Amino acid sequence: MNYQNFFRAELARLKDDGNYRTFADLERHRGAFPAATNRHAGGERDVTIWCSNDYLGMGQHPSVLAAMHDALDTVGAGAGGTRNISGTTHHHVLLERELADLHGKEAALLFTSGYVSNWAALGTLGAKIPGMVILSDALNHASMIEGIRHSKAERIIWKHNDLADLERHLAALPLDRPKMIAFESVYSMDGDIAPIKEICDLADRYNAMTYLDEVHAVGMYGPRGGGIAEREGLMDRITVIEGTLGKAFGVVGGYIAASAELVDFVRSFSSGFIFTTALPPAVAAGACASIQHLKQSSTERDGQQARVAEVRARLDDIGIPHIENPSHIIPVMVGDPVKCKYLSDVLMERFGIYIQPINYPTVPKGTERLRITPSPVHTAEDIDTLVAALRDLWAHCQLSRVPLAAE
Ligand SMILES: *Cc1c(COP(=O)(O)O)cnc(C)c1O
Repeated sequence: MNYQNFFRAELARLKDDGNYRTFADLERHRGAFPAATNRHAGGERDVTIWCSNDYLGMGQHPSVLAAMHDALDTVGAGAGGTRNISGTTHHHVLLERELADLHGKEAALLFTSGYVSNWAALGTLGAKIPGMVILSDALNHASMIEGIRHSKAERIIWKHNDLADLERHLAALPLDRPKMIAFESVYSMDGDIAPIKEICDLADRYNAMTYLDEVHAVGMYGPRGGGIAEREGLMDRITVIEGTLGKAFGVVGGYIAASAELVDFVRSFSSGFIFTTALPPAVAAGACASIQHLKQSSTERDGQQARVAEVRARLDDIGIPHIENPSHIIPVMVGDPVKCKYLSDVLMERFGIYIQPINYPTVPKGTERLRITPSPVHTAEDIDTLVAALRDLWAHCQLSRVPLAAE
């Protein structure tokens, strides 16, 4: 085999389909988020970021930065080992306590990312509990799918957010067989929210564990930022809550929160936890400061919700189609990968607006979109610029619009 030709041909196919990924080279300006400099082949330009998962701007928050500087200056850079071999610093211990408290659980366990936490926790629970069957929502994140696959447990995929379909599958299984319902609270691409209470009711009825990915909700919902389950008073009904420190908390890392026994079990048996260097202590300190801040401040959450409502209303005014949903995610539907990429390129080049196109395989073919994530630090002027640019482009590209009430 000619390896280089193989790689070239596969990449060419991806490009023909419009699914080749190009990364924007960004340099953010501390304290001035969402502003950044974008370097490209022809030079550089000022851009406004409209697609970050640093939903609340906490990656720039003074207390987060101060905590990271302080930890770096007092204890140094890397953790220096796995958690087992000298890598458990006091900052890790404090962070795990903070996370357990955030979710009202006995314990929490840190991983190097949210991806790794799903992969490792689902992988371990699925593999080590004899006879386990995992009932997985059809739109679960790749990290959950990979974890379940890796566990080799039997997997049943139920229709997205469909309680009747979930119950049909549960009822067909022996009541005493170990089972786990794995799902998310806020689904990141459509922004819809799972019926958590009803899923917990089914879990009780059919004797199942529940595993909830709150990655897009932690920091964002609930009086202390504990997620949708906190907002709805359901945290105690979830067996495992999984979250990230990389999105609304603005740093990096992942975790699970659960009973002391379950956490100790994953800690003791999970390869993806055991055999990797712990996060740098400064990262743990920054995440801890971010969580502490968002536990007692709703200013960021309120500001973000207001911005989201404003952007939605402005899009409605000009008939730009977007998925209505009860969360903070605004998916503007394009429905074609080449057009989606083109729109994204023009937004960047002509308007200084950075919105990464979302194409297959992240979303199903035909549902390509621009995923807009307003934050509390986007200004009224940023919104004006965004709306004017989209209005221009929709006219220029003859993209379909939602019929306006007045028309
Ligand atoms: C981003 C994401 C993850 C992974 O979290 P990271 O900390 O980025 O690795 C897990 N689940 C969902 C639903 C996500 O969107």
